[in-house]
Amino acid sequence: LAVKLGVNRSTILNAYNRLKAEELIESRVGQGTVVSVNAEERNEIVKPKWNQLFNNRLDDFNNNMISRLFPLLGKKDIISFALGMANPDLIPELPFAELADITKDKANREILSQTPVAGNEELRENICKLLAKESITCTPEEIMVLTGSQQGIDIATRIIIQPGDVVIVEAPTYFLALESFKSAGAKIIEVPIDNNGMQMEGLEQLFIKYHPKCIYTIPNCQNPSSCSMSLVRRKKLLELAYRYDVFILEDDAYAGLGFTGKTLPTLYQLDTNGYVLLLRTFSKTICSGIRLGYMAAHKRMIAQCCFVRQNMDIHPNTISQWLICEYIKSGTYEVHLKKIKEEYLKKCNLMHNELLNHAPVGLSWSKPSGGYYFWCHLPKEIRTSELLVLCIRDGVAFMPGIPFFTYENGENYMRLNFTTPTARQIQKGIPILCSNMKKLINT
Ligand code: PMP
Repeated sequence: LAVKLGVNRSTILNAYNRLKAEELIESRVGQGTVVSVNAEERNEIVKPKWNQLFNNRLDDFNNNMISRLFPLLGKKDIISFALGMANPDLIPELPFAELADITKDKANREILSQTPVAGNEELRENICKLLAKESITCTPEEIMVLTGSQQGIDIATRIIIQPGDVVIVEAPTYFLALESFKSAGAKIIEVPIDNNGMQMEGLEQLFIKYHPKCIYTIPNCQNPSSCSMSLVRRKKLLELAYRYDVFILEDDAYAGLGFTGKTLPTLYQLDTNGYVLLLRTFSKTICSGIRLGYMAAHKRMIAQCCFVRQNMDIHPNTISQWLICEYIKSGTYEVHLKKIKEEYLKKCNLMHNELLNHAPVGLSWSKPSGGYYFWCHLPKEIRTSELLVLCIRDGVAFMPGIPFFTYENGENYMRLNFTTPTARQIQKGIPILCSNMKKLINT
């Protein structure tokens, strides 16, 4: 059909899914897909006119493959290389019992009540102490505790982006950041990456041509490529940001998870003029269910973020804040980081070896030097959307490349997470994945 109509295949799939969601077509055994007899017209059903009700800026999001895939990717009976979660066996013990004991006494129930919009003061002080160990200096007034760093991306987007504003991103990049920018009406401009992170050649020309409002980067162990931005490029990026007055959103979700031991200074740390908002999270080092992260930025920025944040969730969850604050105070966070890095490196090596042993000719990847993911480039015969159907049928899931790009077609890429699966699952799942790739090459 795509060939006959001369349109892109994913346009047809999107249209099909939309018609189905609107109940305008239905699948009937023996008849295939047919136009639904419109029950509404026959006055049998009264229902909201969903397509008129919803803000149409969200259309793309509702129809994108991620929202349809998500329920499948995390299913229990599937070996999942799809999502990016901390390994459940490596979640440290958090002081739940102490919390229960303390709050038994009514006088202590105060710790369960509201906190300031920017988060609990003691936690913000302790976050500053953690940052000081990396030689990052900031005060509690420059910190805002977040309900996960995703919230930070969304808050920053809301305070910076107006419809039509340009945001520069790495290509590929974290798809939920793209969704936040798009839902605010931003125009996305992509910059390619290589092993040293965002490429700087041509960036100045983009700044001159598009006058971007902000640039979004994941300089450490990037999602999905796992590459890190070199020090030279970090400095160059700041220099350009100052010259062209472009704000930097530095998403450091994988901070501390590099395997080499050599950690480069954050853009936030190198910035002397208040142009960088740093986002960090406890999702990748402790667990994502705790929903806690933070931003560090200029006081003026934090004040503006608090203003917007009030309308979202008023303040971060008090219980999560208490648990993480006590955990940081226990002084075991660094020991824990060292331990998970050792375990993740083992899994990374294992996945690399399994890929080396089973990969079809033409599959390429760089071995990650930290973070959570292998980013693989597939032989041109393979479309990851087709591969995913075969693999899910065989009980294996991965993240196809499409959502990580805005313009480039990511059909020949896939992202594999190595932190969540067990060693056995990696040994079982990678051969299944590779044999399905070989099947598609040979058909
Ligand atoms: N940024 C990046 C680059 C991520 O990979 C993720 C999680 N996948 C997030 C932000 C959001 O993490 P959370 O909201 O759980 O802190």
